[in-house]
Amino acid sequence: MTKQIFEVARAAIPVAGMDQTFPVRRIYCIGRNYAAHAREMGSDPTREPPFFFQKPSDAIQVVMPGVTAEHPYPSLTKNYHYEVELVAALDKGGRNIPVEKALECVYGYAVGLDMTRRDLQSEMKDGKKPWDIGKGFDNGAPVGPIHPVAKSGHLKAGEISLSVNGTVKQKADLSDMIWSIAEQISRLSQLFELKAGDLIMSGTPENVGPVIVGDTMVAKIVGLPDLSLKIVKPAA
Ligand code: MN
Repeated sequence: MTKQIFEVARAAIPVAGMDQTFPVRRIYCIGRNYAAHAREMGSDPTREPPFFFQKPSDAIQVVMPGVTAEHPYPSLTKNYHYEVELVAALDKGGRNIPVEKALECVYGYAVGLDMTRRDLQSEMKDGKKPWDIGKGFDNGAPVGPIHPVAKSGHLKAGEISLSVNGTVKQKADLSDMIWSIAEQISRLSQLFELKAGDLIMSGTPENVGPVIVGDTMVAKIVGLPDLSLKIVKPAA
């Protein structure tokens, strides 16, 4: 048996109500999945095919309910944005999964934030360069505990919102998604072989905006505990 020369930690997310964690393989994110957000980002919200990007799995910051976690303001940005999103966690995968079978892959759901260095993302978009530096940075994916479908059922409708310092900034309904979770899984499985451990960040509603050091964000999705973060200065 050949040993690894050193160990690398794998990201894992606590499962609500269980003494177990969900190991994370990949984080897929869908772009512009609520019509009003597509419009504010300058695109036509008709049902053009969905597009996806990834965040590295070690971008996850686990945020437990009932506490306000500290979230470091990232480097090299002056326009740091929140995007509240429903996260689907898969414990099965496959290729070419039909929409009708897709939800069988979902183990559970969590509240997540697709944090974005918007200025860097915009620069890259304008230059026809990859988005990674705008989306795939350390701590760029705060996520709450995963709530198993077996206990909580599938989340297809209900309010999703984000407030900053007590003021509601984003507010929509999960049923406003252009592409449902099932449709996203089906489409992703044509592009990639999905596997257990994959997460899908299912897109954000309109009214994304900036936060600065000292701000507190609270992300809410009906049926899941709130996720609360305070933006702090990065460690020197
Ligand atoms: Mn997003």
